[in-house]
Amino acid sequence: MPSTAKILDDLAPLLDKGGLITTADDMERYRVDWPGHRGALPLAVARPATTQQVADVVGYCHRHDVPLVPQGGHSGLVGGALPDADTPELVLSLERLASIRDIDPINFSISVDAGCVLQTVKDAAAEADCDFPLSLGAQGSCQIGGNVATNAGGLNVLRYGMMRQLVLGLEVVLPDGRLYNGMKTLHKNNAGYDLKQLFIGAEGTLGIVTGAVLKLFPRARETRSALLACPDVEAVLGLYALARRACCDLLTAFELVPRACLELALEAAPDLRDPLDAPSPVYVLMEVAASGPVDLDAMIESLFEQGMEANLLSDGVLAGSVVQAERLWRIREAMLEGQRNRGEHLRTDVALPISALSAFHARASEAIGTMSPEATIIAYGHIGDGNLHFNILPPANLTPDRCTALLHTLEERLFEIVTEFDGSISAEHGIGRFKQAAFLERLSEPEFELMHGLKHLLDPRGLLSPGRILPPSAK
Ligand SMILES: Cc1cc2nc3c(=O)[nH]c(=O)nc-3n(C[C@H](O)[C@H](O)[C@H](O)COP(=O)(O)OP(=O)(O)OC[C@H]3O[C@@H](n4cnc5c(N)ncnc54)[C@H](O)[C@@H]3O)c2cc1C
Repeated sequence: MPSTAKILDDLAPLLDKGGLITTADDMERYRVDWPGHRGALPLAVARPATTQQVADVVGYCHRHDVPLVPQGGHSGLVGGALPDADTPELVLSLERLASIRDIDPINFSISVDAGCVLQTVKDAAAEADCDFPLSLGAQGSCQIGGNVATNAGGLNVLRYGMMRQLVLGLEVVLPDGRLYNGMKTLHKNNAGYDLKQLFIGAEGTLGIVTGAVLKLFPRARETRSALLACPDVEAVLGLYALARRACCDLLTAFELVPRACLELALEAAPDLRDPLDAPSPVYVLMEVAASGPVDLDAMIESLFEQGMEANLLSDGVLAGSVVQAERLWRIREAMLEGQRNRGEHLRTDVALPISALSAFHARASEAIGTMSPEATIIAYGHIGDGNLHFNILPPANLTPDRCTALLHTLEERLFEIVTEFDGSISAEHGIGRFKQAAFLERLSEPEFELMHGLKHLLDPRGLLSPGRILPPSAK
């Protein structure tokens, strides 16, 4: 690899003005992510403004053995986009590649640059009377390229699927700088291997996503949100099965919110009020949506009645206006802020068969409660997808070292239980660096060989996002 000075001299002509950041102060914001983790100082930050510039920079890195890592909106939760501490890396930020290329409301598709912020794409779709349904707490900052790279999920997966189901076509700069142009707008295409799927969820280890064609849906004319109080997780699952049927498959979100999370939300956003009179152990935050004339109020009221009769819920509130609905969903956002405000904690993102969630929840709560009685468990999530964020706030007054060690031990035990239930240690956040050891422990030999083989085929020099998902030695 050439000296840093030589690399900077060589890269500058490949980019236009403002395309290369080299001072420590200016690079500061590219070292930090949403949870507050800090990466090392990168070699530089390249900010290409066109796909060709991305290809030129990546091609240069390939020819001169320069490791690089793509970066989107820094909202990833597993440290994948942070520059490495051991080997200096070039950060390749997609933030300037941010145009909507085309929107086709008859084909129900939108073609975008990878650096478009998710909210911008949702707004553009809405202007064309369409909906791009990916919805997550970070949608004001995360980028489409990051969503593709992490196969993002979010609130509406149970109706529309994850990013993998929402991508019709992709444009990717391969690790040697060649361009894979798969920007097809087809809803059906069975011609050979589906190459785009390789790059979805690959966390930037197989190529740099520069563009995507996304699937759109008719825009919802009516939506209704409700908060329902339930006695326990078992009842929440019974209610979920009921709601899927009673709501004519119009259910768009079904979130488990334990009491501890509601309290964290009230703590983080003092303007919020507890929407119900009496506290309940768990709640469901749900939404139904329809693009045509359907009586959603009658549908939810009928669900209330059936749920009450079956002892699956004890109370509930149906938002009577858009403002009230927004306040209910603010609870979901504020509880994340509340967790972040508590400092270091264990953040997990596990997947279980939906029907096993209650048994898993009970077993995991008992195990963690025995190991650390003063820790606070906050297990919430996209329960309609079998995705639980089984998070743990450590006991107060631990030294930072003891806190980290305790959380690590608790995570190991939790993941063992996930494995006993045939679940996954990552439902949507991915592996990055933080989950790598647990991920590798659980890979079978054929799985490892296939993954290693793919990585080697596409990136034989191991320069792209080294050490994410697979160990850096897998060159
Ligand atoms: C408050 C909050 C709520 C969240 N809720 C959810 C949720 O409900 N569901 C969910 O799935 N996730 C959720 N996340 C996680 C996060 O928002 C997603 O992982 C998101 O898709 C990351 O996008 P990003 O642009 O911020 O990517 P970054 O954080 O910048 O990068 C993430 C990974 O993708 C790679 N990458 C980025 N851009 C590209 C590209 N163009 N080409 C190739 N690789 C690239 C990076 O190298 C890194 O490995 C949440 C995060 C926060 C902070």
